[in-house]
Amino acid sequence: MSLPVASERPALSEALELAYPGVTVDDVAGTLTIGTTTLPLGADEERSVLARINDGTIKDQFAIVYPLDFDLTIRETPWFDPGRVRNDPMFRALYGESERAVASSLVRTTYRGAALNTTFAVTREYCAAQQLQAALNGIAADGRAMDQYFANVGGSFNWRVIAGTRRLSAHSFGIAVDFNTDLGGYWRWAGAVEGDAGEYKNHYPESLVRHMERFGFIWGGKWHHFDGMHFEYRPELILYARLVQEAGLR
Ligand SMILES: [Zn+2]
Repeated sequence: MSLPVASERPALSEALELAYPGVTVDDVAGTLTIGTTTLPLGADEERSVLARINDGTIKDQFAIVYPLDFDLTIRETPWFDPGRVRNDPMFRALYGESERAVASSLVRTTYRGAALNTTFAVTREYCAAQQLQAALNGIAADGRAMDQYFANVGGSFNWRVIAGTRRLSAHSFGIAVDFNTDLGGYWRWAGAVEGDAGEYKNHYPESLVRHMERFGFIWGGKWHHFDGMHFEYRPELILYARLVQEAGLR
């Protein structure tokens, strides 16, 4: 049986509206509206990866489809960094324009392990905290071997720029968490150069990553510029990947 296509709209419009209830995309005008803020989606033109990283449009964020498979050879391609492009105005409109605004939306989420509890401060906007709590509960249910990933954690909310840049980190918006930093691996700490991050020795189990992805968090371990401890709430990218994958199977 062949089912009708649900929508002829661009997959990224569908993904953005599904991920962030109340947010609307006007495909004709090429705009995204979040509350009282209307932002351009950006042109369809090909742009360099550096232009996308430094000054990404909303559309640029979808240029590399986040891989749902647990295949860490994909990241060996230089600049394969799905989710590392962020449109700063979009995140400010979604979560807050200032440290104080974001801080007022934070709630506690807790990994309750066999031998330790670890708490992360995450925004309650767009169900980010509830989704993280659900993922953490799933991970904890996998048993005491999971505790090691929640010792020596890097943290969560932190209004700051990304090391070596002037761009705000996802941690500024209360949507990112860093688990065990010793087991994580971060390209800058490894002494790698931008554009050639080299080998990444992963220590995080596939099951943990899948729990996080199931609830809308992408993982920095899939990036060429690897950040293995880092997970970030990007439900639009997970949904977009699923929509694109489905369309491919038709
Ligand atoms: Zn991080």
